[in-house]
Amino acid sequence: MSRKRRPAPPKAAPVERSPALEAEGLEALARQYPEDREEILLDAAVCWKDAEQYDRALAVYQQLLDGGCDEPELTEAYRISTLWEAGRIGEARDAAARLRRRHPTDAGAWNVVAELFETAGELHDAADWFTAGITHLLGPATPLTRTAVEDAADPDGIEELAIGRHRVRRRLGQPHDDLDRLADTLHEHRPALLRGHRTLDELHDPDRLRAAESGDAEALRASIDELTAEIAARRSALSRPRMTCALFWPEPEFARLMDKWPDLADDYGTEHHEHVRGVEKRLRRLSEEGEVHLGVALGSVTDYETFTRNEGLSPRDGDARAEYAADLAARGRSQSWPPPRNGPCWCGSGRKYKKCCGDPATA
Ligand SMILES: [Zn+2]
Ligand SMILES: [Zn+2]
Repeated sequence: MSRKRRPAPPKAAPVERSPALEAEGLEALARQYPEDREEILLDAAVCWKDAEQYDRALAVYQQLLDGGCDEPELTEAYRISTLWEAGRIGEARDAAARLRRRHPTDAGAWNVVAELFETAGELHDAADWFTAGITHLLGPATPLTRTAVEDAADPDGIEELAIGRHRVRRRLGQPHDDLDRLADTLHEHRPALLRGHRTLDELHDPDRLRAAESGDAEALRASIDELTAEIAARRSALSRPRMTCALFWPEPEFARLMDKWPDLADDYGTEHHEHVRGVEKRLRRLSEEGEVHLGVALGSVTDYETFTRNEGLSPRDGDARAEYAADLAARGRSQSWPPPRNGPCWCGSGRKYKKCCGDPATA
C-alpha cells in the first residue's frame, strides 16, 4: 500500500450554526441516508428542542413512530419529555400512563420518563417509575443481587434505573432498602470514569443535599455540578446504542503514545497511517462477523493515563486499552462507524470516507 495520504488539515474552529439550521440539515441528511434515518432524525429532534421549536421536535418523533422505528418505546419516551418541555403537562402525563400500560421492555424508556419526573421535581413519581422499570426488567421474583442483574437481558439499563432510584430516594430522605443496597454494589463495580471517586452514598448524601437546599451557595453549586455530571454521563451513554468501539489515537496523540510506550508499535505499527488502516480493518472484520453498532473511540494519552491509574491497570496491557475504549464509548467520546460514504472520514483526514479509509481498494 503506497497510496499517498494527504496530511490532516489543521483543525478549523467549528462554525457556529443555529440549532434550527442544524435540525433542518439533519432532516435533509436523513432523506439522503435512509439506512441511518432513525439515528439522524433523533439528533434532529434534539436540535429542534434546543431551538425551542417543540412542535417540530414532536413532529419528528411522530414521523418515526408512524413510519416504524427500531426503538419505538424509547422514541415515545423522548416524545413524552418533549410534550412536558413544551408545557403540555396533561398530555405528557396521559401519554406516560399509556406507555407504562404497555410494559416497556426498553430500560431507556423507563429511565427517560423517570428522569423527566425527577427533573420536574415530582420525586415520588420518579421513584415509582424507576422501581417499576427495574421490576419489569428484572422480573418480580428475581433476587436483588449483582449476579441477577448481570444475567438479565439488559444489565446496564437496570443499573441506570437502580442508581437513579437510589438518588431520588436519597433526595426524598427515604431509608435504604434492598434495592438501594444493590445500587450501592452496582456503583462500586462501575468503570472508574463513570463512578468518580465517591461511593454512591457520598454522591447522593442527603445531608449534603439538605445543606444545599438550606441555602449554602457553595454546597448547592457543588452538589448540582456533581448530579449534573452524573446525569450527563448517563444521558450520553443512554442516547446512543451500546457500541463496540475500536480505539483510535488521532495523529498528535499517537505520537505522544509512541513516545511514552514505544513497544506499543508491536500492535499499532510505527506510523500513524498503519494504525489508521489497522482500525478500519478491525472494524470491517467485526462487521463481517455480524457485529452491529460499531464505533471509533477517540483516545487521548492524558485521559488514558488517568483511566489506567484509577483502574489499577498497566497502560501497556491490551486489555487496558479494550476497557478504555469501552469507557470512552460509555462517555459518548466515540463516533459510529462506518460514516456515510460521502461524509467526512472518521480518521480526520478531511476526505470523504469513500475516498479515504472506506475506499474498497484498501480492504
Ligand atoms: Zn446507598
Ligand atoms: Zn480515513
